[in-house]
Amino acid sequence: MSRQLFVTTALPYANAAFHIGHMMEYIQADIWVRYQRLRGHTVHFVCADDAHGAAIMIAAEKAGQTPQEFVARVAAGRRQYLDGFHIGFDHWHSTDSPENVELSQDIYRRLRSNGLVYVKPVEQFFDPVKGMFLPDRYIRGECPRCGAADQHGDSCENCGAVYSPTELRKPTSALSGAAPELRTSEHYFFRLSDPRCTEFLRGWTQDGRLQPEVANKAKEWLEGADGRQLSDWDISRDAPYFGIPIPDAPGKYFYVWLDAPIGYLASFKAYCARAGLDFEKFLADPATEQVHFIGKDIIYFHTLFWPAMLKFAGRPYKVPDKVWVHGFITVSGEKMSKSRGTGIDPLKYLQLGMNAEWLRYYIAAKLNGRVEDIDFNPDDFVARVNSDLVGKYVNIASRAASFLQRIFAGRINLPMDPSGAPTGSTAVALAAADEIADFLDSREYGKALREIMRIADFANEHFDKHKPWELAKEPASRDLLHAVCSDVIGCFRALTIYLAPVLPATAERVARELFGMTRPLAWDDLRSPLEQIAPYKHLMTRVEARQLEALFEPAAPPAAEKPLPGGAPIGETASIDEFARLDLRVARIVDAQAVDGSDKLLKLTLDVGEGRHRTVFAGIKSAYEPQALVGRLTAMVANLAPRKMKFGVSEGMVLAASHADEKSQPGIFLLEPHAGAQPGMRVR
Ligand SMILES: [Zn+2]
Repeated sequence: MSRQLFVTTALPYANAAFHIGHMMEYIQADIWVRYQRLRGHTVHFVCADDAHGAAIMIAAEKAGQTPQEFVARVAAGRRQYLDGFHIGFDHWHSTDSPENVELSQDIYRRLRSNGLVYVKPVEQFFDPVKGMFLPDRYIRGECPRCGAADQHGDSCENCGAVYSPTELRKPTSALSGAAPELRTSEHYFFRLSDPRCTEFLRGWTQDGRLQPEVANKAKEWLEGADGRQLSDWDISRDAPYFGIPIPDAPGKYFYVWLDAPIGYLASFKAYCARAGLDFEKFLADPATEQVHFIGKDIIYFHTLFWPAMLKFAGRPYKVPDKVWVHGFITVSGEKMSKSRGTGIDPLKYLQLGMNAEWLRYYIAAKLNGRVEDIDFNPDDFVARVNSDLVGKYVNIASRAASFLQRIFAGRINLPMDPSGAPTGSTAVALAAADEIADFLDSREYGKALREIMRIADFANEHFDKHKPWELAKEPASRDLLHAVCSDVIGCFRALTIYLAPVLPATAERVARELFGMTRPLAWDDLRSPLEQIAPYKHLMTRVEARQLEALFEPAAPPAAEKPLPGGAPIGETASIDEFARLDLRVARIVDAQAVDGSDKLLKLTLDVGEGRHRTVFAGIKSAYEPQALVGRLTAMVANLAPRKMKFGVSEGMVLAASHADEKSQPGIFLLEPHAGAQPGMRVR
């Protein structure tokens, strides 16, 4: 029976480029989706950028952009990764979209009219300088337990204590440095503790749709060893916030985690509009299966809040049929670090010319249907790609096809038994079809690939055993040679069908180039006639050790990698003592005059709070009208040895910015302190 599926991966937060963890999840889901399509099922596969929240609002402000500009720039970088690794999403959307506003507000209204939303006051830290309530991560202070300084608002890195930000000693805002004030604000809550929710979730999480370890985790939360109820969920944030306004609640926005999963539906809705599908009809169809691929860090949201929201919003919304959880990916046993990454940059991988299907194959070989971490090990990667993928699978075709082409003009004559069924390695491959199908459908990709490689071993041994290079010398052995070579090509076609979800580009080439097909391979082609092949074209190269070395080479410092906007690399390191020898002061420009006979210099009269004025000659005439400078503040080197110049003695130097190559990149910009600085203040 044909299935109809709506499949998503978790929405990536739109504040950074993809890392290897994202690519692992997309590869896992993409293989599953391609397998379903290979079986003739209907699959709609979508994702979106998770664009809202305080973190993006603050990052955008730092970058001098609007949040919309900020997320648009990140979104523009997505395609090269997705295309590069053959990730076949039907649609990529954003949670900052009209569809998501509409759906989030609709679901909220339905939950509210169902009695599952209430309002209560919450006391929270407020930054009086930024004029906003502070998310926990933007509050720093001393740990209430061990006293370590500069700890996060929710936990201590020194002693591991977990606490609420109001328990921090000497709290400060990480945004402004100001001491935050406790203020009260009305927050909106989703009543997850409602007996209807609990009862529904007890059934939904335990009816076999979740992986056993995920179902157990959910059970722990639901049953709570100490018999506590589930906590209600704070779903609102106060303005200013980059998010979706809560209906009938001025100045309140949905917490980003409320509208993020609804982004799955928003993306699908936008795709339906584009593809001419009926969004509500598809969702409401009982035959539709809704499947989410996620990482183990977001199980709570996807197995408690998300199904409860959908359940009590009602039709056409449907609860997920599957939430499939994977572990993390480590590299050489090391956990990923936010600041250092993992040592594998997916984009660098592509830029080095490494084959995307090597990584797809390697990750697939490591994956199973459980919530286990997997490790990328460079030596293992080389071994699996070169010995298995190239040495076993590709090798079958490259060896047999040359005999078939040279001696039999590409004609295939599959050996059959008296009942008309294939024999030899083709028969071995076909006999494994159901088992491999089960492995692919249950995301046991590692087991599927082991089985495929076992068959490839069999085919290669079968081929070697008959010594075709000797058969080719004996005209009397032609029929046997034809049968052996045809048989392993039959096996190769079956293996290519099995591998097509993992190696979509290679499978497409084999279908088109070797088998002369005008459509992609399908599962049913396992038993379709095979009569002719075209000349074999080289399919895949081996990975070279130097490519992995290059992949793991640390990035060169930016100064050497690309020119700075200033046109010169950063200079040699100076010690703090060397810097301290320069006495930099704020100076007020009391007067400014052009210098007769000089087309570069202005003569500045400066007040640095010494009770006398200084004269400084500055090469800034090309950039400033003298009168425009009078009264303004700048910074100067106050202890520079006086220098006798053609037009007088210069008693110091003002600080200005310019490109290293002033001729081709003109422009001089005098430094000016923020308002409030006074002449004579030290700059350090
Ligand atoms: Zn501590």
